[in-house]
Amino acid sequence: MFDISQYRVPPGTLVSLDDHDPNAKVGFEGGKKEGKRALPKLNDRLYTLQRKLWAESRQKLLLVLQATDTGGKDGTIRNVFTGVNPQGVRVASFGKPTEEELAHDYLWRVHEHTPADGQITVFNRSHYEDVLVVRVRELVPKERWERRYHHINEFERMLTDEGTTIVKVYLNISKDEQRERLQKRLDNPDKNWKFRSGDLDDRKLWDKYQEAFEAMLSRTSTEYAPWYVVPANRKWYRNLVVSQLLIDTLTEMDPQFPEPEEDLDGIVVE
Ligand code: ADP
Repeated sequence: MFDISQYRVPPGTLVSLDDHDPNAKVGFEGGKKEGKRALPKLNDRLYTLQRKLWAESRQKLLLVLQATDTGGKDGTIRNVFTGVNPQGVRVASFGKPTEEELAHDYLWRVHEHTPADGQITVFNRSHYEDVLVVRVRELVPKERWERRYHHINEFERMLTDEGTTIVKVYLNISKDEQRERLQKRLDNPDKNWKFRSGDLDDRKLWDKYQEAFEAMLSRTSTEYAPWYVVPANRKWYRNLVVSQLLIDTLTEMDPQFPEPEEDLDGIVVE
């Protein structure tokens, strides 16, 4: 449906988020109504591909999702994976590290959640927090987080060398859109539970976070594990783009149903 490559960050480019319009809906003619109607078809295609991936059980896919607060990670997961077989999909969410996690290196808690054969795993936040919140809030000294871009590239290289396909999505919303979404969390009783006063502290650091996202996108988009900057102010368009990205990636992986164990001709189930 779309040419996903327009959102891909070419390795080695210096990304400025000012050049990425969070309201874009390139490649889609209609509006919200048509956009919402277009999703089920993509859900079906994703289901078909995921069924094969699961049956084949030889390849694995990791989707990394990063965004600012209210960026729409949860909604993306909910909408994009509607209808897939839950057995083959895992979501790993990474919040504030526990004491035990902090006592280890920062990749320790991440590695065990990477996908196994046949699985799709979604990282809802990820090891990238260790060059985002950790950088912005100076939770470790600069010389420590600076080195992490390199570690992360090598970690992801190892995963891909060993058979994992990786795609990474940054959901790009504007500062105004974040204000509206935070306000809705305050105004709508059903959304109150999502509101954290800490989100307002992070909002004050908007510019520093944008800088950290730009550094992440510039320094860790690689041929083997590329970043995609997805326009995410319009939730329906965001869902279509991420669905299409997964469909394209799985189509490229081309999973196949395994051959049956023996010739099935003439076998009768009594
Ligand atoms: P979400 O906002 O993703 O729905 P939470 O409300 O549980 O989930 O927020 C997770 C919090 O954990 C975020 O504020 C994030 O910055 C923080 N966090 C995640 N990873 C780390 C990390 N490595 N170090 C410090 N804080 C982290």
